[in-house]
Amino acid sequence: MTDAAALLGVLRAIADELPRHEQRFNELDAALGDGDHGFAITRCCRAIRERLDLLEDASVADALVAVGTAVVAGAGGASGALLGSAFVAAGRAVGDRQPVDAARVADMLDAAQRAIASRGRVGRGDKTMLDALAPAAEAARRAAASGGSVGDAVAAAADAAEQGAAATGEMVGRAGRAPRLGERSLGHPDPGAASVALMLRVAAGRLRAAGPA
Ligand code: ADP
Ligand code: MG
Repeated sequence: MTDAAALLGVLRAIADELPRHEQRFNELDAALGDGDHGFAITRCCRAIRERLDLLEDASVADALVAVGTAVVAGAGGASGALLGSAFVAAGRAVGDRQPVDAARVADMLDAAQRAIASRGRVGRGDKTMLDALAPAAEAARRAAASGGSVGDAVAAAADAAEQGAAATGEMVGRAGRAPRLGERSLGHPDPGAASVALMLRVAAGRLRAAGPA
């Protein structure tokens, strides 16, 4: 992800892959919420694709802000507003700083997780997408600190996000629609954490396929 073209490829890969998992996300949400998280993710991805079609020579920052703004406007639902604002925050965090190296990736993920914490008014352990994204940002920071590449940082973030998403199964929901379930939310992983983890896994796969960065 050293250049904007690579980032646009990552965003397009996410927008192409996530809708294939629509039913699984709906099912996860049916156990805790209203069963529509897959639909929300599909709308999110459509907004990303439509916006990407209009972007050609955008910088990394401009592309993320444009995509995030389109997601906030077009996706709807709690998750659309949160994910869109996370993309916008990631874009603002990278700004025009070059190169976009592993430390910048950690900055982006950290800004994204802070945006979700503040906009969603959640903390870790509340059983939300933050429980995937916050450990992902920390893992990317560790990878950057030990000299890893962009691909290493994103792969480490994806591993941490998957572990974080799995761990939400053992949490009692304290945000969104899950709190009304209380202890009955135990045993059901959070759908937003699962979709965030998959986004990072797709990003890692795309970067690996594109070669060392
Ligand atoms: P909705 O709750 O509007 O139906 P979705 O079903 O698309 O939205 O998304 C639900 C997911 O959104 C949850 O699994 C959780 O990860 C995330 N979420 C909901 N509310 C919040 C919040 N206040 N803060 C952070 N994440 C949240
Ligand atoms: Mg829902």
